[in-house]
Amino acid sequence: MPDLPLPDLPLFAFDNSFAREMEGFFVEWQGDKLPNPQVLRLNRGLAETLGLDADALAGAGAVLAGAEVPVGANPLAMAYAGHQFGGFSPQLGDGRALLLGEIVAPSGKRFDLHLKGSGRTPFSRGGDGKAVLGPVLREYLFGEAMAALGIATTRALAAATTGEKIRRDGPQQGAVLARIAASHLRVGTFQFFAARGEVDRVRQLADYAITRHFPHLASSDAPYLAMFEAVVDAQAALVAQWVLVGFVHGVMNTDNTTISGETIDYGPCAFIDSYDPAAVFSSIDRNGRYAYGNQSAIMHWNLTKLAETLIDLVNPQDSEAAIAVLTTALHRFPALYEGYWLAGMRAKLGLGGEEPEDLALAQDFLAAAEGQDIDYTQLFRDLAEVVRGKRVGVFAAPSVFDDWLVRHRARLAIESAGADAMDAVNPVYILRNHLVEAALTDAASGDMAAFDRLLAVVSQPFAVQAGAEEFAKPAPAGFGAHVTFCGT
Ligand code: AMP
Ligand code: MG
Repeated sequence: MPDLPLPDLPLFAFDNSFAREMEGFFVEWQGDKLPNPQVLRLNRGLAETLGLDADALAGAGAVLAGAEVPVGANPLAMAYAGHQFGGFSPQLGDGRALLLGEIVAPSGKRFDLHLKGSGRTPFSRGGDGKAVLGPVLREYLFGEAMAALGIATTRALAAATTGEKIRRDGPQQGAVLARIAASHLRVGTFQFFAARGEVDRVRQLADYAITRHFPHLASSDAPYLAMFEAVVDAQAALVAQWVLVGFVHGVMNTDNTTISGETIDYGPCAFIDSYDPAAVFSSIDRNGRYAYGNQSAIMHWNLTKLAETLIDLVNPQDSEAAIAVLTTALHRFPALYEGYWLAGMRAKLGLGGEEPEDLALAQDFLAAAEGQDIDYTQLFRDLAEVVRGKRVGVFAAPSVFDDWLVRHRARLAIESAGADAMDAVNPVYILRNHLVEAALTDAASGDMAAFDRLLAVVSQPFAVQAGAEEFAKPAPAGFGAHVTFCGT
């Protein structure tokens, strides 16, 4: 019997709850037509997790770059506001991005498929609506590296080139990032409607957020307060993980702070080299607002802005009472953060159980490292070797850690988690700035080998990989202070 041609199956079985339920929160919009959209890199593993046909996606450049609307999609630009570097912008919104639709994975989890760089929208203000190859691949790398580290994050499904030349410092290749997120609800989404006094819309948004992210809270006596507490908790856990792994987000504006607790918008982010609370990489963060050691304080501040939008929901009759309970919930953030951070430090230092001296032990370890030219990532791997009885790296010779090591040994004598457990939480491979730069420079001239290799290495961060020694080393002397740029 001859084979009959198969009908074209839709690429996605979208189920677009936001488009369906949230009219007034977005503008329906479409991406620009493009001269030559092509999938440059597809995240096949993620595609499979989402139940998508990776082979079909690999040939769907026009769809993944936003130039063609696939069956079932409802492309839209979301409205949001935000505090940027402390100043309020009442109207930001998706100025160069579209929510294409929502995918329900075989696991039952719902995800947004969002295209960044798809062209101008009604929210573009002075911007061109475009993205270029380097920053798109940068976001791809960071999302995958963070996911592999076990940190909640948006992830790249694909990077597509558009065939356009985009003007930045000089002409650059146009690109679009197809991004997967638990949702794109931000603190700034609440701020947009609260700032306009649209309390009914803020309530509708909160109801949607509860259904989508915290369904178990829907039946709570005080669902909006409970939602706020859940966001406070999720963000405390997230920022603690960033800090433990040495990650600097770089642009923690309230529009880049999710309700889901996922890391979003990898622009000027970077991993620290040596331990330095004042570390800043972003070219525009001149005052160090978003410095490495400032991130928990900034998240606490961002959550204050979320709390302000919820006052009329928490108690419509009595705003004083609402403020009182929201304030109590808000000010649990520092203790929650410290709890997550200390639990993480115990694991990194190999401390089993919990002892009263653990906080001081963790703090003193970092105090000893501060101001020294010691690689933060390698330090914890070397400490595991000390636990194995081998003195390597900075511990091979007398060092600033000598007194501390005596205390550490005494503490492990009470209860040790063991060196293998330390290695399971202390990465060997992070995205080192010089490796990212080299990979993106090669990619700009059409050579993706370094990108692919780096992506593969950081996707398995905890196990030593044969032949990957260079990826575990700090930047060569002379690489200099690293500077990153955002909004590009
Ligand atoms: P970001 O700094 O990437 O979080 O973006 C902040 C705001 O600026 C958002 O509203 C973006 O949509 C908007 N934006 C950033 N770059 C562009 C661009 N090239 N064109 C239009 N809007 C942009
Ligand atoms: Mg953003």
